[in-house]
Amino acid sequence: MQYLAADDHEVDRIIQNEESRIENTLDLIAAENHAPQSILEAQGSVFNLKAAEGYPGNRFHAGCKYADELESLAIERAKQLFGAGHANVQPHSGVSANLAVYFSVLDVGDRILSMKLSHGGHLSHGDPSSITSKCFNFQHYGVNLKTELIDYDEVRDLAYQYKPRMIVAGASSYSRLIDYEKMAEIAKSVSAYLLVDMAHIAGLVAAGVIPSPIPYSDFVTFTTYKTLRGGRGGVILCRQEHAKKIDRTIFPGGQGTTAMNILAAKAVCFKLAMEDDFKKLQKKTLKNAACFASEFDKMGYRTVSGGTDNHLILLDLRTKELNGNIAEKTLESVGIIVNRNVIPNDPKKPEIASGIRIGSPAITSRGMCEAEVVQIVKMMDAAMVNRDKAEVLENLLEEVLGLCKRFPVAK
Ligand SMILES: *Cc1c(COP(=O)(O)O)cnc(C)c1O
Repeated sequence: MQYLAADDHEVDRIIQNEESRIENTLDLIAAENHAPQSILEAQGSVFNLKAAEGYPGNRFHAGCKYADELESLAIERAKQLFGAGHANVQPHSGVSANLAVYFSVLDVGDRILSMKLSHGGHLSHGDPSSITSKCFNFQHYGVNLKTELIDYDEVRDLAYQYKPRMIVAGASSYSRLIDYEKMAEIAKSVSAYLLVDMAHIAGLVAAGVIPSPIPYSDFVTFTTYKTLRGGRGGVILCRQEHAKKIDRTIFPGGQGTTAMNILAAKAVCFKLAMEDDFKKLQKKTLKNAACFASEFDKMGYRTVSGGTDNHLILLDLRTKELNGNIAEKTLESVGIIVNRNVIPNDPKKPEIASGIRIGSPAITSRGMCEAEVVQIVKMMDAAMVNRDKAEVLENLLEEVLGLCKRFPVAK
């Protein structure tokens, strides 16, 4: 980046440091991934600067010939990739996509039933700290505390009692499949819309390695930067009948100009996600996550719900007399990046938390397989057990560096 180096060395230095941090650490954050360089190129392109309010063929600025071509391509690819009736590719993020869905067919104050944050849901599903809870009346379902699986009987009971106008399925730290057919049937029985927020699992769905919510939902939202391995951004898919309302809620409702450069990256992301290599990658992502679960199990750790069906596991560290905060910091000190996470009915505050969430997408994108997962789990256990032994931690940091060197981040 020679122009940046000339204009601003401080920012250039920070970016270079970040590049080296990424290269030399193992990213196990379930919500992150390594995007191909082609996506970063599209995202850093001249489309950054094109003001293009509106939609292809109906803009409020001139000069949109290529912007129109680009957005139409992104829309067609999104529809094809997921088999959806309509796609809006303009949302700036997952949260803005969710807000747009709520506002498209609901009135302020309407009732929504969604999964609670503390059991694996997302802030934008009506957490008290989120603006979503100030606009709509949320009621929450959770997991059954014995099985740690979504309790569909509870969902049904709450839906009958509460009569929501929308039900939200989808989560941030739930390691199991969601029964969309059952959710759709419950939603239908109370005449509620069904929104599936598949932010985390969009890549797995695109590759067809886990079931798709598209046939069962009125709306599907997702982000492009998690398992899908694109750049940052959000997308809404819906049935054709809701297309107009969704489009108008995004623009002019909640956004002005769209980020055309991000649209370019989204288009590339959808193309790559249709290729065979992507399918193989997502299969390996699942295999590696299952391997994390079984290896931790062998070492006496408890996985919430007893395992995983997707790209993540949630480890309950209470059996090891450890908490999420200490584990997160200890692991970071040896170059392993995870996030602390509450477990269902966690006695600890989110700042401390009893668990950590571990995701396989990023290391799988680096080409790592089960042999490396086995090695990583051993290193993680050794770090957590020996967290007060500086020498052990130093050796582990070296071992992590060695592994990173063997699996450079793919361009
Ligand atoms: C990550 C995530 C989002 C949020 O996306 P942002 O791009 O951070 O706004 C929304 N919903 C779920 C379930 C998520 O996991």
